[in-house]
Amino acid sequence: MTVDPRNLRESATFPREVLAEIHRAADQGVYDIRGFGAKRRLPSFDDLVFLGASVSRYPLEGYRERCDTNVVLGDRFAEQPIELKIPITIAGMSFGALGANAKEAIGLACTAMGTSSTTGDGGMTEEERRSSKTLVYQVLPSRYGMNPDDLRRADAIEVVIGQGAKPGGGGMLLGQKITERVAGMRDLPVGIDQRSACRHPDWTGPDDLTIKIEELREITDWQKPIYVKIGATRTKFDVPLAVKAGADVIVLDGMQGGTAATQDVFIEHVGIPTLPAVRQAVQALQELDMHRKVQLIVSGGIRTGADVAKALALGADAVSIGSAAMVALGCNKPVHVEDYYAIGTEPGFCHHCHTGRCPVGVTTQDPALEARLKPEQAGRWLRNYLAVMTLELQTMARACGKSHVLNLEPEDMVALTVEAAAMAGVPLAGTDWIPGRI
Ligand code: SF4
Repeated sequence: MTVDPRNLRESATFPREVLAEIHRAADQGVYDIRGFGAKRRLPSFDDLVFLGASVSRYPLEGYRERCDTNVVLGDRFAEQPIELKIPITIAGMSFGALGANAKEAIGLACTAMGTSSTTGDGGMTEEERRSSKTLVYQVLPSRYGMNPDDLRRADAIEVVIGQGAKPGGGGMLLGQKITERVAGMRDLPVGIDQRSACRHPDWTGPDDLTIKIEELREITDWQKPIYVKIGATRTKFDVPLAVKAGADVIVLDGMQGGTAATQDVFIEHVGIPTLPAVRQAVQALQELDMHRKVQLIVSGGIRTGADVAKALALGADAVSIGSAAMVALGCNKPVHVEDYYAIGTEPGFCHHCHTGRCPVGVTTQDPALEARLKPEQAGRWLRNYLAVMTLELQTMARACGKSHVLNLEPEDMVALTVEAAAMAGVPLAGTDWIPGRI
């Protein structure tokens, strides 16, 4: 029998993936948990373009004229601020979510490029401390692996309030990834699913946060910068409150930020995209006269030097990458393809970090799988990727006539869509119009 094509119209409300998810939910009675970040199309840095120099602006010559990339983070109160050679840092990713080899590879790449890496839920591993010249230590609601001695061994402290993939929620680590070593560091039983707390047990609001930050400063003798990381939601209120509480640096993670494991509904439906969040954060800092005094690190969907350049042009001091760093380490690479099939996916589509069966050894605690990631080799891949991003960033900045990447500014860009123009606060291309402004 022939099928009438009119009977094959896919519903916009119930497309195939929605039908499949309803069938899965009906079958299993549990919500979907997965890794990676939001997969839906969101307004992003792709919707902005630079206005390269022409008659009215003078570009810099790539091979003869310098374009510096160094940045200082945390010089508001800390005796020893962080000095980085490039404004691209690696975001916090836990040992447990990632294997120890991946953490070591990240440290090696960061040290080679003169930038920082960050711990995560579950504490600091010896491998990452050894390999990372500059290591930021996260203080999380779960307190897993929290150790005052490690606070002092870190180069900066990051109080994590929220994450772009799940602001208001806690992460998960499924039992298959909780080996004896992970369990030992987190004080948990081996092999049992774990859900991280969504809020800090020892403070409930900005006043308590002030006390917490002071406590951390005392423990570290006022030497280390204190960062505060927030997931992008009510950014224009959260940033001033974090500044008032004493943060040296704000880390702002937009909705495109990744996670190792959380509910799919959270990843796709909570938080705001990075683009409007940066603009709101910069505006809040400017209103407090704290822009460039309290530094802003932006994360969530940064993939290229162009993304970095756009974030800096909007007013960020640096960016942080997580998912993109994992991809540089081999995530979603078309190797060991049969192992992607075994967990129900293919290279290019994988978001199965929660399973612990990562085919390329990035997000696994299985010794055989983890051995596929060689720290030296993967560290070289990530270092190369960071170097390429930095060159791209400098190319963009030189084209706009800037001798330092932090001299990029909003007026160097225009937006390709009305929504991006409104969110980023830059004019729609070919006009002077910024929607929402007179
Ligand atoms: S390849 Fe590994 S790290 Fe990448 S999404 Fe799949 S499980 Fe996660």
